[in-house]
Amino acid sequence: MQEGQPSPALKGKFITARIVRRVDLTEDLWRVWLQPSEPFAFKAGQYCTIGTAGLERPYSIASPPSEPQIELFIEHIPPPVGQLTPHLFKLKNGDQVSMRPRAKGLFVFQPKYRHHIMVATVTGVAPYIAILREQLAAPRNGDRFHVLEGASYQDEFGYDKELKAMSMASNGKVTFFPSVSRPQDPRNHGWQGATGRINTLVEDYLKRVAPPPADTCVYLCGHPLMIEDVKRRLEGTDYHVEEERFWK
Ligand SMILES: Cc1cc2nc3c(=O)[nH]c(=O)nc-3n(C[C@H](O)[C@H](O)[C@H](O)COP(=O)(O)OP(=O)(O)OC[C@H]3O[C@@H](n4cnc5c(N)ncnc54)[C@H](O)[C@@H]3O)c2cc1C
Repeated sequence: MQEGQPSPALKGKFITARIVRRVDLTEDLWRVWLQPSEPFAFKAGQYCTIGTAGLERPYSIASPPSEPQIELFIEHIPPPVGQLTPHLFKLKNGDQVSMRPRAKGLFVFQPKYRHHIMVATVTGVAPYIAILREQLAAPRNGDRFHVLEGASYQDEFGYDKELKAMSMASNGKVTFFPSVSRPQDPRNHGWQGATGRINTLVEDYLKRVAPPPADTCVYLCGHPLMIEDVKRRLEGTDYHVEEERFWK
């Protein structure tokens, strides 16, 4: 089957989406913008399912519904472990993927709470970007957002400039707390921020910021081991936890 073409067997069940822009951040991380062939409804934080070469996978949408294109933040998992991403990684502007016509997912903004602690590993930041862009466009009084993102290397924070800009402009509404887990690596030369795996830093962060637990939602997205560890650390507290695991 030709690269970038939806599988004929899947025709009818799917719409298509054309790649209109692609930005490579590192050798294995990229941001991509898709133009669906038909209107695509979703809520900020939900995921779409795209495919090529007879394979499909879910991807959290980094853009809010108000934007004309679907933005994704994808990590290339090289073969033989990765199945779809080696195909996706070869796609260029103008190529097409198949797309399930409906978005899915329950990992969305929780309006019941005023304090939002959003913890991510690398690409797990995507749904938070969608939620933040939407929430900051029509802010509610009293909402506080904290994005805690962990990565091995500083060049893997795909939205750090945007999150810093949001933080600067938000008058305390948004805080960005990135941490690298391999501070000694030459790729992290010059890094002056936090160090350590993000799951090990969440408890101290909560102690320092002290959001009222009963009015706080802790969102966890990305690596399943990060999610399990943070949940274990928060056991017995009143924090409400929402999670989106990227794999089992
Ligand atoms: C609800 C949901 C939303 C998701 N959103 C995103 C997203 O926004 N961006 C994204 O890159 N992936 C996301 N994923 C993961 C994505 O669906 C694929 O699993 C991933 O792109 C790898 O696809 P693959 O076919 O190459 O390998 P797969 O066969 O799917 O996975 C092989 C192995 O790769 C590893 N792996 C999978 N995903 C990742 C990842 N993101 N980072 C590091 N290691 C990984 C795991 O060890 C996994 O067992 C999401 C998954 C789910 C369930």
